[in-house]
Parts: sequence; structure tokens; C-alpha cells
Amino acid sequence: AKRQGRNRAVSFQSEFVEGVSRRVQLVAELRQALERDEFVAVFQPLFDSDERPVALETLVRWQHPERGLLPPGEFIPVCEESGLIVELGRRVLDQAARHYRRLVDEGLPGLRVAVNVSPAQFNDELVRHVTETIQRHSLPPEALELEITEGLLMQDPERAIELMRQIAALGVSFSIDDFGTGYSSLAYLKRFPIDRLKIDRSFVRDLGSDEDDAAICNSIIGLAQALDIRTVAEGVETVLQLDWLRARNIDEVQGYLLGRPMPFEELLPLLLRYLER
Ligand code: C2E
Ligand code: CA
Ligand code: CA
Ligand code: CA
Repeated sequence: AKRQGRNRAVSFQSEFVEGVSRRVQLVAELRQALERDEFVAVFQPLFDSDERPVALETLVRWQHPERGLLPPGEFIPVCEESGLIVELGRRVLDQAARHYRRLVDEGLPGLRVAVNVSPAQFNDELVRHVTETIQRHSLPPEALELEITEGLLMQDPERAIELMRQIAALGVSFSIDDFGTGYSSLAYLKRFPIDRLKIDRSFVRDLGSDEDDAAICNSIIGLAQALDIRTVAEGVETVLQLDWLRARNIDEVQGYLLGRPMPFEELLPLLLRYLER
């Protein structure tokens, strides 16, 4: 057993070393991918209670030369650790602004574009970059929405409030992503300039079958309404979920049932069709 233990330790060590060197290599690849402009944005529509599209969430993909289109789960964490997320975040915001312009050109004004912001990006530089982007692209600030997580608010609340106020003063709005998975109370949230809560997919999944999840969604929606914060449900995949949420006056919904994340050129005809109805 002792011997086995030692072997295990050795193999753990070499796995650890392998893990580190894989990571170092991935960081180098990601840096190169930024240089080669291999990151692309896809967009997922959000709909209001009348089933009209009201926003697009910008979601990044890595168009890898050998491995194909990679989801963010495969590279965002390493981008966050290595600091590359700052440059990647700039590119994504830029894409969002450019595509807002396309929407207007295609006769679809008034939709919001949302981008995800990692805690590692949430600093003075973000304020500067958002300001610059709005000016450079003549993006109406109220068309831009930043999605942040509860975790970010809890890390350093005073600093978060300060930065959010500066950005909100520009006219940009905030939503809290994956809501319900962190530990913040809604009363506490009132201190932050928040426009929307996006109820995490995990609570939406079992609506209709899991009473606890239904109770969680119910209380989030009810309290948010009382506090005058809009609610969004993400991960809506079934008509049952949609009807349940609509019956509770959810403000907006997003999910595979209504539209998957897709390239802008594919999304455009879909948006035009929805608006014609
Ligand atoms: P998220 O912000 O919670 O984004 C929603 C995720 O749920 C997306 O995964 C989307 O494809 C997926 N989704 C939407 N509707 C449904 C549905 O009905 N069913 C299911 N099963 N999934 C649905 P995706 O694109 O793989 O993104 C994963 C996460 O990566 C995002 O989660 C976000 O945290 C992060 N991410 C994506 N793009 C960016 C970015 O540009 N910057 C940063 N910092 N993070 C990003
Ligand atoms: Ca999001
Ligand atoms: Ca989310
Ligand atoms: Ca999520």
C-alpha cells in the first residue's frame, strides 16, 4: 500500500506538471489566436412577453484552425487566469457594437446588445473602453448591456458599486447573470444599479417537475418585481417552461426553444421574421 501510495504521488506530480505545461501551451495558442483574429462572436436572441426580439447576447467562440469551433468553456477560464480576457473582452465588445450598427442598417433599431464581462475585466480600463466603444461606433449607450455575476459584486462591493455607477452614468445597463447560484440577497442587490436579473438555467431546467426550482423561480420573480428589477429566464427549452414563466409575468426569455446562439447572418432573417408577425 505504501508503494502504491508513492506511485500515486509520482503520477499525481507528473500529471500536475503535464497540466501546467498544457496550460502554458494553451496560453501561447490563445495569444496567437488573438493575433490571428480567430475569435468569433455568435448571437442569441432574447424575447419579451409578446415574443418580440428585444436583445442579442454576444457569445464568443474560438474558430480553431484544427479543432473547429470551440465553446467558451474551453478557453475563457484560461483567458481569465492569464489576463488575456482583457484583450478578448475588447474584441467581443467591439463585435457587439459593430453588429448593433448592422441591426440599425437592416431596419432593426431598438434592440439591445449584451456582452458578458468577467470579474478580471471589471476595472477602470473597462470604463474607459466602454466609453471609447460607444463613441467610436456611435452606439446609443442604452442599447448596450453588460452581464456580470453575483460573485463579482460580492468580491469587493464598494468598488463594484463605484465602477457600475460610472458605467451606468453613461446610460449603459447591467444585468446579473446566472442569478441564484451565488449568495447575494435581493435586498443587498438594491445597493447596485442593476436593471435585470437573469435566472440561472439550472433553476429553469426542472420547472414543472421540481417543486423547489419552481419555488426559487417564483420568489426571484416576485421579489425582483417588488424591487422594480426586470427578470430574464435563460435556458428555456420547452413550451412548458415558457408557459410557466409567462404565467408569472417574466419580462424576457432566452433559450434554445426560441433561438440558439448563431452567426449574425443566420440570426438576421429570423429576427426580421419575428418582427413581421
Ligand atoms: P452564460 O453567460 O450563462 O451564457 C449562456 C450559455 O447558455 C451559453 O453557452 C448558451 O449557448 C447557453 N444556452 C442558451 N440557451 C440555452 C438552452 O436553452 N439550453 C442550454 N442547455 N444552454 C443554453 P456558451 O455560449 O457555451 O457560453 C458559456 C459561458 O461562457 C457563458 O455563460 C459565459 O459565462 C461565458 N462567455 C461566453 N462568451 C463570453 C465572453 O465574450 N466573455 C466572457 N467573459 N465570458 C463569455
Ligand atoms: Ca450571459
Ligand atoms: Ca447565464
Ligand atoms: Ca451560466
